[in-house]
Amino acid sequence: MPPLIEISGVTKTYFVGGGSLDVLKGVALRIEAGEFVAIMGPSGSGKSTLMQILGLLDRPSSGSYRLLGLDVSRLSDDEGAALRSRTIGFVFQMFNLLARTSAQDNVGLPMLYTGEPGRARRAAEVLREVGLGDRLDHAPNQLSGGQQQRVAIARALINRPRLIFADEPTGNLASAQAEEILGRLIDLNRSGITVVMVTHEPDIAAYAKRIIKLKDGVIVCDEANPSPRGGHGQSAARQAEVLAQAPAIRELSGEELIEHVRSALGAIRANKLRSALSMLGILIGVTAVIAMLAVGKGAQKSVETQLSGLGSNLIMLFPVSPRTAGGPRGAQGSFSRLTLDDAVMIARAHPGIARTAGEVSGSVQVVFGDKNVNTNLTGAMPEYEQMRNSTPFYGRFFTAEDDESMARVAVLGPTVATNLFGDQDPVGRSINIEHIKFRVIGVLTRKGSSGFRDQDDVIIIPLKTAMKRVLGRQYLSVVSIEAASPDDTDAVIAAVRSVMRKRHRLPDYKDDDFMLRNMAEIQAALSGTSKIFSLLLGIVAAISLIVGGIGIMNIMLVSVSERTREIGLRKAIGATRRAVLIQFLIEAAALSTCGGLMGILLGMAIAFGLSTWAGWAAIVTPQSLVLAFFFSAGVGILFGFWPARKASLLSPIEALRYE
Ligand code: ADP
Ligand code: MG
Repeated sequence: MPPLIEISGVTKTYFVGGGSLDVLKGVALRIEAGEFVAIMGPSGSGKSTLMQILGLLDRPSSGSYRLLGLDVSRLSDDEGAALRSRTIGFVFQMFNLLARTSAQDNVGLPMLYTGEPGRARRAAEVLREVGLGDRLDHAPNQLSGGQQQRVAIARALINRPRLIFADEPTGNLASAQAEEILGRLIDLNRSGITVVMVTHEPDIAAYAKRIIKLKDGVIVCDEANPSPRGGHGQSAARQAEVLAQAPAIRELSGEELIEHVRSALGAIRANKLRSALSMLGILIGVTAVIAMLAVGKGAQKSVETQLSGLGSNLIMLFPVSPRTAGGPRGAQGSFSRLTLDDAVMIARAHPGIARTAGEVSGSVQVVFGDKNVNTNLTGAMPEYEQMRNSTPFYGRFFTAEDDESMARVAVLGPTVATNLFGDQDPVGRSINIEHIKFRVIGVLTRKGSSGFRDQDDVIIIPLKTAMKRVLGRQYLSVVSIEAASPDDTDAVIAAVRSVMRKRHRLPDYKDDDFMLRNMAEIQAALSGTSKIFSLLLGIVAAISLIVGGIGIMNIMLVSVSERTREIGLRKAIGATRRAVLIQFLIEAAALSTCGGLMGILLGMAIAFGLSTWAGWAAIVTPQSLVLAFFFSAGVGILFGFWPARKASLLSPIEALRYE
């Protein structure tokens, strides 16, 4: 049977600041199963270095090492971690317990990395063995030094190791507590576990059955202790079960994932302000994404509904101020004028014109009872009903006679109807428009918002009534022209243009003082504005997601360096590189996902606000929520990768020494 530990010619050289330091200078050592060895020597003689090499936390610069007959110099880091977690338990001078974590969870940690079931039960069991059965829920800061060290011993025991390495386990304890700890180690040794203990105090070494003295990196003395303190008695041989199956590298377990999510949320909670600030970028980015998608979708939808039913053969003629070279634009009186006569003449401009209708519009005050609202007034011809797809769903539209006689009748948009009448029936009632009494004859079908303006907030009255009685205008705001077929629109536009130029007596060098647009162009212009808006929000979103990602990367780097000791400890008790990588990736993703979820809520609130109070069309789709969620998680993983990788590559021993 091979010895438990066999090293020969082991050296260790540290390179510091250009120079090199030989700490171990050819150490040979055999330790059999069941021994209790004390390694002694003055401070700086290389005791800890030797123990870390024996414990697979560090590699020798040269020399050979066989553990359980296995040549460990051939093991990869992760294989070393796996072997370590199943055969070796560590007890450190500084206890190295995780803060804010219960004794039970601290003790259970090594089992998380071996993936064996029954962690909580086994942790409670070993805590009872070290006499702390009544302290399971205590965090390290709620325990005395001796109790903390007992928790650390319980943690070293949880995976039933063959070997315990204890580096100055009593160095931070008062002597009564030190004796208690040594008693535990003796008990363990009696049960068959090999104990290697480092100390520089002869009193403590006197408990061991074999004492090795180290000086300046070489063994100067190695002898049995014929009468060890503490009453060792006979050690029950566990040698028979020494040689183990080669430990395999484990797959990531679901339990480990859940544990990582839990500890990530715990870390976020422990640093609330810091976490909240680092989430801010993601939060703003996701808010912008949600609002952007909602506004974009809403605008698209409203343009569609607004234009649906309006034929592509509709052409609009608007007045504009002519731009004269170098002159000021839009000076008073330079606006072109569209008259009713223009509308009549245009109707005869081309045989492809089916019908034309003039319109005026303005803003007015409307009163019913004690209700008083401002709304948009449109004066229209009876053709408006057909040409603009505005048949009342309730009551009737006005007729040519109403228009001729300047009748005071009004058709209400649904918004105005609700604002003035609530649930009452408006048809047949009288309202005052700019102090003139009108009779309501119909209510229009709901059309929805056109992105920036509520199309249902409107009152339509006969054109002549509007021009002469209410608004006092002689000129039209727009003339709608309907071509008989979409194929005619270009010819109709050309014909109308030439008629209008003639009627306005425009010389060749002057630009048009009117504007002709067909429906396709209007549609493009409408969706163009919302596209620009979406693009702007998209840029904001992209920038803040990048900034947010950098914020998360930054905070994760801080977190990794703050928790270097924790990482070192986790690796020392068996965490593989991948386990550490995944732990920190999950933490970064948790951070950004929390920010993302808050951003989703805020974005939905903004979309809701825009559509409720500003009258914009904003539609939040489930796809956009899913997109935003995965985007934020992705940003966390992307920007968290570097810090997580940094953490996973830390060497356990350097990390443990980190101050
Ligand atoms: P001790 O016997 O007190 O446990 P150590 O094994 O911790 O001694 O250290 C032995 C020597 O090696 C010391 O002089 C120390 O300064 C040096 N040393 C330990 N670790 C490092 C390191 N990571 N880099 C450089 N020098 C180190
Ligand atoms: Mg030391």
